[in-house]
Amino acid sequence: MSLTLYNTLTRRKEPFTPIDPKNVRMYVCGPTVYDYAHIGNARPVIVFDVLFRLLRHVYGADHVTYVRNITDVDDKINARAAEEGISIRELTERTASQFHEDIAALSILPPTVEPRATEHIDEMKALCEALVAKGHAYVAEGHVLFDVASMPDYGRLSNRSLDEMEAGARVEVAPYKKGPMDFVLWKPSKEGEPGWPSPCGIEGAGRPGWHIECSAMSDRWLWEEVKDKLSNEAKARPHQFDIHGGGIDLTFPHHENEVAQSRCAHGTPVMANVWMHNGFLQVEGEKMSKSLGNFITIHELLKTDKFGGRRWPGEVLRLAMLMTHYRQPIDFTATALEAAEKVLRNWYRLIGDATACGAGDGQSDVQTKLQDDLNTPQAITALHAMADALSNGGDASALARFKSAANLLGLLTMTQSEWLAAWNADAKLDGGEIEARITARLEARKAKNWAESDRIRDELAEMGIQLKDAKDPTTGEFTTTWEVMR
Ligand SMILES: [Zn+2]
Repeated sequence: MSLTLYNTLTRRKEPFTPIDPKNVRMYVCGPTVYDYAHIGNARPVIVFDVLFRLLRHVYGADHVTYVRNITDVDDKINARAAEEGISIRELTERTASQFHEDIAALSILPPTVEPRATEHIDEMKALCEALVAKGHAYVAEGHVLFDVASMPDYGRLSNRSLDEMEAGARVEVAPYKKGPMDFVLWKPSKEGEPGWPSPCGIEGAGRPGWHIECSAMSDRWLWEEVKDKLSNEAKARPHQFDIHGGGIDLTFPHHENEVAQSRCAHGTPVMANVWMHNGFLQVEGEKMSKSLGNFITIHELLKTDKFGGRRWPGEVLRLAMLMTHYRQPIDFTATALEAAEKVLRNWYRLIGDATACGAGDGQSDVQTKLQDDLNTPQAITALHAMADALSNGGDASALARFKSAANLLGLLTMTQSEWLAAWNADAKLDGGEIEARITARLEARKAKNWAESDRIRDELAEMGIQLKDAKDPTTGEFTTTWEVMR
């Protein structure tokens, strides 16, 4: 068993060695809850869910702690709540439960802990105090600012030098900043904004900056809450954990600043040993944006016909996403979704209502591919090979092994009956439309237009609808019924 992961910090693929194999610890930046999550937000959630499943499989389900936060204090949240005339709490609660509903449909396992920023204000204030006390932060005009010049290797994660960054900094730098790259740890709250008593002797209410919450929450849940049960080697490396993940757009400034805060507050050589970033997502070859009109939410994909003229089952979205390696940019297209659906339909037909077998005997090719920096495209190829072998005949244990291997990717999590029920609910054709096509086919047959008749039959078969022709024994009339293919 050897797991290798690409580490943004070292810019190479390396063998993964957890600090404590009995307590593997991972943190991933979660959503800011002010609106439906878009399909780009779904990518890190799916990618790190696959990693979570793999780590649980390799190290044991009880030996992995996965923390994914919810950002519930943010300017966008304040603005949206004001716009809708509802309280911030109401907006963040509603949006967080929408998020949970969406990702449950994508077969995402719940993380071990899902901390909310507003429930960790004390930890953030303690970090501000520690950074000021150690000379890494200063107070100016009601703000606490991180002094970037106080950290010699600031920029290491995103691989840029301070000189470069300062040269590129915009001209309008707030006058109270010592250096143009200094960033906010705490800021005063304006009238009507959420606020808490400020740290560092600052008068009046304030609120945290963007980055400090992840430093506070990762340390609380991956160090403070678990330190007593860690191995002695892990105890000797306080305030450090194994893996930190997120989208590539978070590398700078968010993750760079998380590193600066955590390392300087705790005096550690690293915050997390391995930093993993998933690539960008485009939609039909274009950058997704509200102005281009191709902005698409997970909810819309699952529940409306906005994309490709139909609704899509969650597992189809998941498989389509995993067909591209997580570090590559992904082009999200209706064609890819159709291809993914076809694959899943075939696989479900193959497994029927078989159950997974748990650990199985030996390591599957699927697992081997995933252990190579989460190579999901090759893992899917390995699943195809297993499916091909099974379609030539396989016993119950071979079916169970196939299902278990697919489960590692969070695929084939249902039985075929459940899949068909879900598929029927989401199919692009309702019963009326199917009947209309059958009528059109019967008319083609009457006109002896066999090509058209076959075309309609094949088209329906593509959608998983099987036609059954029969002759009424009493009237001699030709009739056609349909059923969902098994
Ligand atoms: Zn974060």
